[in-house]
Amino acid sequence: MSVIVLGSMAFDKIETPFGKTDKIVGGAATYIAWSASNFTRPIQQISVVGADFPPEELSVLEARGVLLEGVQVNKEKKSFFWHGRYHLDMNTRDTLETQLNALGDFVPVVPPSYQGADILMLGNLAPAVQLSVVEQLTERPKLIVLDTMNFWMETAMPDLEKVLKKVDILLVNDSEARQLSGQYSLVRAAREIMKMGPKRLIIKKGEHGALLFQEDHVFFAPALPIDEVFDPTGAGDSFAGGFVGYLDSTKDFSFDGLKSAIIIGSAIASFCVEKFGTTRLRELTRQDIDKRIRQFIELVNFDIALV
Ligand code: AMP
Repeated sequence: MSVIVLGSMAFDKIETPFGKTDKIVGGAATYIAWSASNFTRPIQQISVVGADFPPEELSVLEARGVLLEGVQVNKEKKSFFWHGRYHLDMNTRDTLETQLNALGDFVPVVPPSYQGADILMLGNLAPAVQLSVVEQLTERPKLIVLDTMNFWMETAMPDLEKVLKKVDILLVNDSEARQLSGQYSLVRAAREIMKMGPKRLIIKKGEHGALLFQEDHVFFAPALPIDEVFDPTGAGDSFAGGFVGYLDSTKDFSFDGLKSAIIIGSAIASFCVEKFGTTRLRELTRQDIDKRIRQFIELVNFDIALV
């Protein structure tokens, strides 16, 4: 059992209406690894960090079963840095600063020991970098999942089109699905996107849950209404991590299997937003996760008599 995870490992500076942080450890692959390792190990990480990335952060990940052979340390550069500010609705944010640093000239190298993984999770990065990892795998993983964002649709669409043809599942949010397809209706958007390559599509709608599409089937997973959303950073990546980690543990890639996995992804994302950065993910216990999954079951469980 193993999952390859590609993505950024970074420093983030985050401002929300409830507080702000100095530089804290973040990055899509960091959130994905913390989340997925609740369900499966090892996680085979591919990323790059700069000379400033704290070695103890790498050690705690290793202790979690995250293999770092594919994580390059660029001693000449700093780590990727992202500074974001959330609006009052906590669903939208502005990027105030992005410093690519070590990520700017990142050429991923898949270590030979990673070959043969069942799942490849391509976190949000330049589509050319994502494609390079797919092409380095000698055996196609059973499941390839892709995350992307509007920025790549605007700046690297030809590469994105190429990588879309190689993946099984695409994860995007609702505005990105509309942008990619040119359709307002999410049902029509899904139909158009599934013609571009992925046979399954997950559209995340922040606090309004997520939709799973496959052919003419649709499934809706709610987001748990939370008392206090503190910091949404990494929620999408935690969703992805919970999703692929759980799928690697069940190996059930059927539509029903994916339905369970998006509930798990939603549950892990609901923890992520409760504290700044990866703080909440680091404290999670199996009991916390099981309790939250039961809350999800309660949330959508009802009896109705048809008259
Ligand atoms: P999410 O909130 O799930 O969209 O992911 C937030 C994480 O994505 C942060 O920890 C950032 O470090 C990382 N991130 C933001 N912009 C980029 C980018 N252009 N490329 C790679 N990672 C990014």
